[in-house]
Amino acid sequence: MLIYASRPGFPTPHPFRPATLPDELIQEIDCAFSGLLRGQEPQQRCLWFDEQQRGCRHYEFRPPICREYELGGTACQQRRREERRTINLYNLVHENAPAETSDPVP
Ligand code: SF4
Repeated sequence: MLIYASRPGFPTPHPFRPATLPDELIQEIDCAFSGLLRGQEPQQRCLWFDEQQRGCRHYEFRPPICREYELGGTACQQRRREERRTINLYNLVHENAPAETSDPVP
């Protein structure tokens, strides 16, 4: 759902946000994710996953990636592994990056 979050500093919503997405869903998403970058969002469970119903609470508004992959299929699992690797690498690089100075090299 991060993909639909408002982007501080951008004049328009993310291009994948459906034009018909209700305001209350935008507010719910922004409350959970606004200001976060990809990979910074909680990874445990999708915001829209309904534990009791075992399904998507807003299936008609699910993002493109949920439409493109068969749930738990080979391509889905491969993509999840790749995403995890990318996120882990990003976190490793940024945890070990030297602190920025106030006097950058010109
Ligand atoms: S289809 Fe699943 S992963 Fe996609 S938005 Fe719905 S609950 Fe989340």
